[in-house]
Amino acid sequence: MVHFIGAGPGAADLITVRGARLLGEADVIIYAGSLVNPALLENRKEGCAVYDSASMTLEEVIAVMRDAEAKGGVTVRLHTGDPSLYGAIREQMDQLDALGISYDVTPGVSSFSGAAAVLNAEYTLPEVSQSVIITRMAGRTPVPERERLRALAAHGCTMVLFLSTGLLEQVEEELTAGGYSPDTPAAIVYKATWPEERVYRCTVSTLAKTARENGVTKTALITVGNFLGDDYERSKLYDPAFTHEFREASR
Ligand code: SAH
Repeated sequence: MVHFIGAGPGAADLITVRGARLLGEADVIIYAGSLVNPALLENRKEGCAVYDSASMTLEEVIAVMRDAEAKGGVTVRLHTGDPSLYGAIREQMDQLDALGISYDVTPGVSSFSGAAAVLNAEYTLPEVSQSVIITRMAGRTPVPERERLRALAAHGCTMVLFLSTGLLEQVEEELTAGGYSPDTPAAIVYKATWPEERVYRCTVSTLAKTARENGVTKTALITVGNFLGDDYERSKLYDPAFTHEFREASR
């Protein structure tokens, strides 16, 4: 059996209870060493074999899983954040299907949730934005043409950019071409929830400069939108004048 597990954004206690339990039961752990907090490996079983997937190919990862399976062992494949986002798990699951090896997935706290927590922010503020676009700038990994950043930016909603910290000049250009004004608030969140976490609040036009001045080149999320500003409407849900299923209006 193979368990794909979301490790959470960084802090070792932000893995789920289920994820932590399965991690403790593993005979083999394959973890994404470039992004997963190694402190999570401390509770492993004695004799558990640990592999860092940073230097491994898909074929090598599958070979380790296959070998563990042949010995009747439990494998944990530990991915950063939530495995469904930029986790490259589909290709692993397809190969396991072909080999007849069973697996399941335990979700994790994505770094985009970690970043909101660090910012004390709510991505979906009434009358500001009710949608969050999660995307990336096209780089060595292409992005489908219809999802070009400038096209998505035309919505003007909350955006969270993964894997784009090295491309901030282009990000600024695309966001502005799409319709964000240069002074739209933005934030760079470096290593959200890790001990070395840093937050840099800036604007769309100062993203590249801010990252450069602070030496941020990777492991950061770029958040953009007026959810970082001061204006919003109160929610209807907790408005005394609003009646809903669980509460009568009191005035
Ligand atoms: N599955 C992961 C994302 C993997 S892609 C998730 O759900 O978070 C790797 C990218 O995620 C990094 O380049 C960076 O943009 C972002 N990232 C991962 N952990 C982060 C963290 N703690 N703080 C900020 N960005 C992070």
